[in-house]
Amino acid sequence: MSRIPLNLQAVHARIAAAAAKVSRPKQEISLLAVSKTFGADAVLQAVAAGQHDFGENYLQEALEKIEEVRRSQNNAIMLKWHFIGPIQSNKTRPLAEHFDWVHSVDREKIAQRLADQRPAGLPPLNVCIQVNISGETSKSGVPPEEVMDLARSIGMHPQLCLRGLMAIPEPAADFEAQRRPFHALHALYQRLQDAGIALDTLSIGMSDDLEAAIAEGATIVRVGSAIFGKRDHAEPALS
Ligand SMILES: *Cc1c(COP(=O)(O)O)cnc(C)c1O
Repeated sequence: MSRIPLNLQAVHARIAAAAAKVSRPKQEISLLAVSKTFGADAVLQAVAAGQHDFGENYLQEALEKIEEVRRSQNNAIMLKWHFIGPIQSNKTRPLAEHFDWVHSVDREKIAQRLADQRPAGLPPLNVCIQVNISGETSKSGVPPEEVMDLARSIGMHPQLCLRGLMAIPEPAADFEAQRRPFHALHALYQRLQDAGIALDTLSIGMSDDLEAAIAEGATIVRVGSAIFGKRDHAEPALS
């Protein structure tokens, strides 16, 4: 028996409890199920349990899975696919063509390419700027002081819809330590809004720190192992 439906329920309960604790309506927070390394069968089980948004890190794996899920869906529930992994600039076309969201935009060159390659028949691609809030320890994401300029330039592309900020802080042991980088990101989010940049998305929080993220304003939590189980095989190299 698959644990996916029960795990999904448990994650929704954690989201509701974390939201209640800080007096936020739980409807403000949406769950992105991170299905990387798990197959189309796992995605379909989650779909059957009501999950419609899925996050993927590895392009080749994702493209095959999206196609397989599409072929095996017997009813036409519209799923939303979110790319959350590192982006190679020569691999932007399939992102622009097959995804609804890209959370990991971290330079203008990527934004420009995604805009140029977004097919005309599709709505604008939803994007988040990935911010490096843990400083030197993480190599992904734009430094906080460069976010404003990148946000303004993304705003110039009609094929892109800038939704907000994303971050992956270093793992931290306790709630207060988890909360600190999320707090800094939320402050930056506020500064952008004060500067007139309309945003509605803070993509923060994973299986181990979603409560801290919700306390600091998360609107999308990206949860993998708490839904699908431990990822036991090695994750594929950048594809
Ligand atoms: C793998 C991954 C997640 C999910 O992590 P879990 O700890 O399994 O919940 C979330 N965001 C990103 C960017 C990831 O790579």
